Order: sequence, then structure tokens, then C-alpha cells
Amino acid sequence: MDRRRFLKVAGLAGAGAALAACTSPAPVPVAPPSSSSVPSGPPDWTGLRSKLSGQLVLAGDDGFAYQGFNPVWDGQKPAAVAKVSSAADVQACVEAARGRVAIAARSGGHSYAGYSSPAGGLQVDVRGLSDVEVLPGDRVRIGSGAALGDVSQALVASGRCLPTGTCPSVGVAGLTLGGGIGVLSRKYGLTCDHLVSAAVVTADGKLLTGSAEQEPDLFWALRGGGGGNFGIVTEFVFSTAPAPEVAVFSLSYPAGAAADALGAWQRWIAGAPNEMWSNVVVRGGAQPSCKIGGCFVGSVSGLNALLAQLPPTAERFVQAQTYAEATRYFAGGPIARESAVASSRVVRDPISDPAKAVALLAGQSDETYLIFDGLRGAVADVAPDATAFPHRTALANVQIYLKTPPENAARARANLAAIRDGLGALVGETGYVNYIDPQMPQWAQAYCGGNLARLKEVAAKYDPDHVFAFAQSVQG
Ligand SMILES: Cc1cc2nc3c(=O)[nH]c(=O)nc-3n(C[C@H](O)[C@H](O)[C@H](O)COP(=O)(O)OP(=O)(O)OC[C@H]3O[C@@H](n4cnc5c(N)ncnc54)[C@H](O)[C@@H]3O)c2cc1C
Repeated sequence: MDRRRFLKVAGLAGAGAALAACTSPAPVPVAPPSSSSVPSGPPDWTGLRSKLSGQLVLAGDDGFAYQGFNPVWDGQKPAAVAKVSSAADVQACVEAARGRVAIAARSGGHSYAGYSSPAGGLQVDVRGLSDVEVLPGDRVRIGSGAALGDVSQALVASGRCLPTGTCPSVGVAGLTLGGGIGVLSRKYGLTCDHLVSAAVVTADGKLLTGSAEQEPDLFWALRGGGGGNFGIVTEFVFSTAPAPEVAVFSLSYPAGAAADALGAWQRWIAGAPNEMWSNVVVRGGAQPSCKIGGCFVGSVSGLNALLAQLPPTAERFVQAQTYAEATRYFAGGPIARESAVASSRVVRDPISDPAKAVALLAGQSDETYLIFDGLRGAVADVAPDATAFPHRTALANVQIYLKTPPENAARARANLAAIRDGLGALVGETGYVNYIDPQMPQWAQAYCGGNLARLKEVAAKYDPDHVFAFAQSVQG
């Protein structure tokens, strides 16, 4: 679940990020050309500029801007940003960069590892491709640069919904390509489960369509294999559902009650109907505190009956909302960049001793969070190998999130690693690729699980020369 929504639900929204110097790791090396016919040397920026209907801005030019959501990665600076306005522009970018510099797409810019900003390379900024067209029937066509806020606004106006994350500035591309967990996941599945087709510029510069009928391997990999692999998506078509009426809630538990509340939540969500989506946020501090929040597709009375099975608490908020209201509620307030380090673990079954998970936050700052997002429900209706998203049967995904000024990121990463590895010992060494962690041990196995071998095959087929390689790309 998105941290912003969690903080909103849990009432934990706090200070914005400090904007400062970068502490990013060394730049990712550019993959060498695999054939002597591949040209070398810097790209012909002038030639590329003349081919684009959009704009090419070089580092040092007026208007050069490449920064994403997280200031920790501001030092990871591309040589050029192409603000593309068509699929042909994306094709020209791939042609220009291939074998010369690293190339990466940037949609919402929320990569936790800054992977949409290739150091010294070409950032393909797809935010000009942001049209959202609600089609007759249940389909919606969405440009790959659309932000989730644009998507939900257009759908709400048409009485439809797509299960996405709720942070309005997250990009539809990164979210979908890694899976897409949100408040409707247990009822309607992941965002990628609604993907009908995607238009993709592949490493050879071709514009392909991935769907059940066309390029089925590519289509399989695009549904949860992770952003930045396989090609640059220019447009998605999704199936949608009628926008539901919902009831939202938030329960706060006193400091000291976190382990009991987490334990009760695990058992509860495992047996809850698909209409119930919920998360638990455990917040660090001298004595970790805990909030349970969520969204029920149904009435307040139906929700209250389910909440009666959780430990009672005096601090309680329950409200019936239209889907449009719920979208605003979970979106939270104005969006500001936020400096943080993050990771994740996937919780297959209830943690037998939840106090051990809570104890990992002992002594950590109160800007340290464990955010357990409930899975199963409709997510588990799809087989683990039917799409690239492997964590189908898991009970929850837990995001580990530490706010930190960029200049303290190295120290925060050490704390993050201790919590991540401690959780790994409790739940297994897996992770969610959308909470990508540049220091995740055995990252390929952790993110891709049993789907890793097929993902590598798809990458070898569509990107044999590693044009889209980055530090944690499937193609290695
Ligand atoms: C505040 C916040 C809230 C979040 N909430 C949720 C949530 O509720 N649920 C959830 O599941 N996740 C959530 N996430 C995680 C989010 O899904 C990932 O960070 C995702 O990768 C962001 O996508 P983006 O397009 O915004 O980022 P970007 O940084 O633009 O892209 C992420 C990756 O995808 C690649 N990419 C971007 N565009 C394309 C394209 N057109 N074609 C191919 N590759 C592309 C990039 O190169 C990069 O590797 C959240 C993250 C943040 C920071």
C-alpha cells in the first residue's frame, strides 16, 4: 500500500522531506554493445533532437530537470532528458541510446532506487503521454506517463474504477509493471491483473503490442516483472469495474499494544471476505504504536461487524464514502517530495511471534514504519506463474520505510538493512519489486521467486543486448 495512504489512514502524516545533497550509489555501468555492428561513442544528441516531436534537454541547458519523488537520488543525474510526445519519439530515443548510454523511462518518478534517472544516460520522460480515455464498455486507454491521480479522476467521472495504489503522483507505468497493490486489491486484484494490452518500444526500436494474443511472453512479463525491463511502454489498455460504494476505517492502539494488534490483524485478515482490504502500520519510537486502517466494499454496518472481531479501541474512525470520496481520503493532502529509504518483505503466513517483528523497531526513530498491506483475496485467485507477479498466495506485503534527510541516508540504510534482514529471518527472504531496494540481498530471487527463469528468458528474447540494463534489471 502506498505510504501516503497509510499515513493518512493512520493519521501519521508528518514533516515533508529535506531537500539536500545526494548519497546515491555509484552510477550503473552501461552494458557494452554485443555486436561489432552496434555503434559506439556518445549519442548524436543533435540528430536525436531533430527527430523528436517532443523536447530534448541536455544537462546544463535551461529547463533541465530530472529529479524524481525522492531527493536521496538527486545526485544520479542523466546526461539528457527526452520529453517525449509520441511512440515515435520513444523509438528515436532507443535508436539513439542503444549501445552508447544507459536509457531508462521515467513515468511518475517514484522508483525507490532512482532507477528512472540513469546516471550519465538518457532519461525518457513519458509524462507527455498522459491521456486517459475511458472507452465504451469496461475498457480504459491510459498513456504510460499518466499519474494515478489523473487515472482515478477520469474513471470516477465515468463511474468506473481500476484497482491501483492511491498516491496520486505515482506513475501508472511503474506501478502496473511491478504489480500494483491498493485498497481494492483483495476485491479486484492487482493493477496488472486488469491489463488487457500494452504498447511497448523494445530494444530493437520496434513498437509492439503485448496482449494475450500478441507477444504473450512479453505480456506475461509486463504483469509484475518490474518496471524498466523489456522495453518502454507508451500506452496501456485496462479493464475496469463499476466504481463501488465503500466504508473506510482507522483504529489506533496505544503504545505497547502493537504486537497484540498485529497478531490479531494477521488472523483476522486471513479469514476476512475479499471485500475487506486492510493494513497495519507499526511506527517506531520508544514504545512502537500501531494503527489498523482500510477500505470495505460494502456498508458501514457490514464493516462494523467485521471490526468487532479486532481488539477494541476507543480511538476509532468509520465512515461510508462514495468511491470518489474514498479516492480523495486515501490520497491524503498535497503531494511533496519526500526523502526516505525503503525495502520490503513478503509475509507468506502469519508471523508466529508478532512481538519479534515489532521489536525490530525498538530504538528506531518515530519516522520508521512497518506497513503491512493485506493480500490474498482476488490477488490469490491468479496462479503464481500466470503472470510475472510471484507472491500470489502471500498473506501480506510489509513495506519498511524510514524517513531520512538525504545527508543521513547511509545511516538510515544501515538501520533499514537490520530491520529488513530481521524480518527476513521471520518471514522469508522475499520482497516486492515496486518497493525496490538497491541493497536487497539476493534481489532477483527475492523479487521474482519461481518466475525468475522465465523472466530472464523473456528479457533475453526482447533485449538480448541489454539495452535497458540497470543495477537490478532482470537481464542482469
Ligand atoms: C509515495 C509512494 C507511494 C506508493 N504507493 C504504492 C502503492 O500504493 N501500491 C504499490 O503497489 N506501490 C506503491 N508505491 C511503489 C510504486 O509502485 C513504485 O515506486 C513504482 O515503481 C513507481 O512508478 P513510477 O512510474 O512512479 O516511477 P518511475 O521512477 O518513473 O519508474 C519506476 C521504474 O519503472 C520504469 N518505468 C517507468 N516508466 C516506464 C515505462 N513507460 N515503460 C517501462 N518502464 C518504465 C522506470 O525506468 C523505473 O525502473 C509507492 C511509492 C511511493 C514513493
